[in-house]
Amino acid sequence: MPDFSSETANFISELDAAVEAHMGWTRRVLRCAVLRTSPSEDVVAPLAHTLCGFGRWFGSNKKLFQKLDAPSTRGLDAVHQAMHDAIRSICADLLAGRPGQGADLEAFERTQSELIKLLAEFKTHFLAIATRHDPLTGLPLRYGIEDEFTQAQKNCRRHKTQLYVGIIDADHFKRINDAYGHAMGDIALCHLADTLRRIVRPNEPLFRFGGEEFLMLMQCRTLDAAATAAQRIVQTVRHAPVLMAQGEPLILTITLGLARVGNDEAMADAVERADRALYEGKEAGRDRYVIAGEMATV
Ligand code: GH3
Ligand code: MG
Ligand code: MG
Repeated sequence: MPDFSSETANFISELDAAVEAHMGWTRRVLRCAVLRTSPSEDVVAPLAHTLCGFGRWFGSNKKLFQKLDAPSTRGLDAVHQAMHDAIRSICADLLAGRPGQGADLEAFERTQSELIKLLAEFKTHFLAIATRHDPLTGLPLRYGIEDEFTQAQKNCRRHKTQLYVGIIDADHFKRINDAYGHAMGDIALCHLADTLRRIVRPNEPLFRFGGEEFLMLMQCRTLDAAATAAQRIVQTVRHAPVLMAQGEPLILTITLGLARVGNDEAMADAVERADRALYEGKEAGRDRYVIAGEMATV
């Protein structure tokens, strides 16, 4: 079983509970129809789709659904409402002593099965995203790097810009674990990931590459621009310590190895050069960036 973050696990169990609430609602409607009892507000009210258990949960989580897939969210909203409309119409007929309409029943069956299908797709989608993200830092893991790399390489060719691959490694991280414990090390790593996430631009993908290492892709106009960006990253981390409940803030530093990617260079080759630049930076004293083929720079 993959180690999903508690947020993901919660969302999935809530989604399952919301589907179960919907099935419960369906059973209640059936009981009303068979036993000729009066249905409740979440069946007959004009806004019944916002009153049922599923509708209330969906309403309060709509932003997350939209972030995952806005068109499917609109689809889900529409089929859920249409399903309620069909049931309301059936109930109105039954309460008035008329037989229900075949067309309403078909609309109910169709929209309900569409609703269940869309929810299953959302669940798969959400789980797929969760497994591609690091549960500790929330950053994407390395699965998608190749695609992002190819896309960035294409963009750079088209816009005549330069692509750089950067490997960021936390300095002396073992000492942090040794001095403060692994749990504090985890907090420091999340803090570092948050700092990096804030610095990178929207077109600069950032991944957790391994233990205390991150990989980023940078699109720059010139070597100077890459150097300036690299310096900013190193300095920002140095000036963003972890605030401790007691004692001095914990200063984190990183070493960044950068390699300019050739127009047709394979990602593995560029990563290897960035890794060597990183190693040079470590050898030169850490807390700095090194661009492959350039002088080590603080
Ligand atoms: P250097 O400056 O040479 O990179 O030194 P370092 O201590 O950072 O490097 P080293 O490779 O010796 O050790 C990396 C440490 O990072 C050891 C490992 O336990 C720690 N680490 C890796 N991933 C995690 C994590 O998820 N949580 C915590 N707390 N520690 C981690
Ligand atoms: Mg390392
Ligand atoms: Mg390290």
